[in-house]
Amino acid sequence: YVEDSPTTAQLTINTLNEMGLEVDHYPSGEDALEAFWKRDYDVVITDVVLEGEMSGLNVVRGIRSAPTEKREIPVLAVSGHEDMSRRVEILHSGANDYIEKPIVEDEFKARLGNLITSKQLLDQVRSQQEELRKLAVTDQLTGLYNRTYLAETAQKYVSSAIRHQESLSLLMLDLDMFKDINDTHGHAVGDKVLTAIGRMLTSRCREEDVVARFGGEEFIILLPRCDLENAIYKAEHLCRFIHELQPEGLKVSASFGVSSIHQGGRHIDFEKLLKEADTALYAAKDNGRNRVEVFSDDCLEASA
Ligand code: GH3
Ligand code: MG
Ligand code: MG
Ligand code: MG
Repeated sequence: YVEDSPTTAQLTINTLNEMGLEVDHYPSGEDALEAFWKRDYDVVITDVVLEGEMSGLNVVRGIRSAPTEKREIPVLAVSGHEDMSRRVEILHSGANDYIEKPIVEDEFKARLGNLITSKQLLDQVRSQQEELRKLAVTDQLTGLYNRTYLAETAQKYVSSAIRHQESLSLLMLDLDMFKDINDTHGHAVGDKVLTAIGRMLTSRCREEDVVARFGGEEFIILLPRCDLENAIYKAEHLCRFIHELQPEGLKVSASFGVSSIHQGGRHIDFEKLLKEADTALYAAKDNGRNRVEVFSDDCLEASA
């Protein structure tokens, strides 16, 4: 709440407190904005004329040009009867509503109530959007990222790694003879195995790694800042963990294909990285399953 007149300020603060609201009060726009950046408020009330250099107009402009979501906070401007032209200006600059001084308490409560309600609705819509977004990029069975997420973000990982000259590796794994598990124990058991593998992969990877279910019994793990050597090491570990896991009491294994963007000093895009891991995975299947293969030209020849 930004108000330079002590009398108006006291009356308004009383009303706000009666409404059950917590209030910080500043006589100058400078102090108010400084507090605004530091704390999280739900609504801003500002007088047009203020102590110090800054007018209420500047306060609103400052808020509306914020680089974050903070800029969307509801603003109620308070203006004296003589400030007609400035009142229009402050609405133009982004205030949501204004009220004239001397403040009529009921009107003030009604206008403020409306602003708070629309802020709450906006917050609700935003969190619903986030919810939907999460749903859209999550695999329902395992809770891992899904193919949509990879399609949207993987290339960004690759581009960023190339731009910053960092390594980035990709593991592609496919469960071995998974059809047999379904055929012997039923689809529901197969689902539980997939979930257990997904959970294990997540727990064995770093927070920054992207673990995704690519489809069926295939998983992708994107490893930022991980070079080929470490990616192979990681794949060997995971391969062994899967073999030892025995989800649902069953022997499960997986084959791994590994590719890395700076392999051989070349730069590639995500599609190519994926294709190379897939080729290596195919070689792992070919060479007996439950093993890791790294992409190389030999894999290409083998799969030709
Ligand atoms: P390979 O070692 O060559 O990979 O043999 P595989 O049997 O794993 O490969 P194949 O592609 O023949 O079979 C994959 C199986 O994965 C077939 C399919 O029923 C099963 N599968 C795919 N998605 C799911 C799922 O969501 N749940 C369950 N239970 N099974 C699935
Ligand atoms: Mg297969
Ligand atoms: Mg398989
Ligand atoms: Mg498969």
